[in-house]
Amino acid sequence: MYEFVCESGHLTERYVHFEQNIVQCNCGASAKRIISAPAISLEGWSGSFPSAHGRFEQRHLDKLKAEQKANS
Ligand SMILES: [Zn+2]
Repeated sequence: MYEFVCESGHLTERYVHFEQNIVQCNCGASAKRIISAPAISLEGWSGSFPSAHGRFEQRHLDKLKAEQKANS
């Protein structure tokens, strides 16, 4: 399981091969793999508890879905 971030700042978690550095974000942009995940993923949002990350992801996904709905 690796974390990726696209140019719009979306975080994406994917199961990929170790060599794979790029995946496609849900927004359609290329997302680059975050090498030092703990240091980077804790920046920009104040979730310092393990469960906060999951809640953040869920909110993010809901927002993405809403945006996609609005765009279609
Ligand atoms: Zn994105």
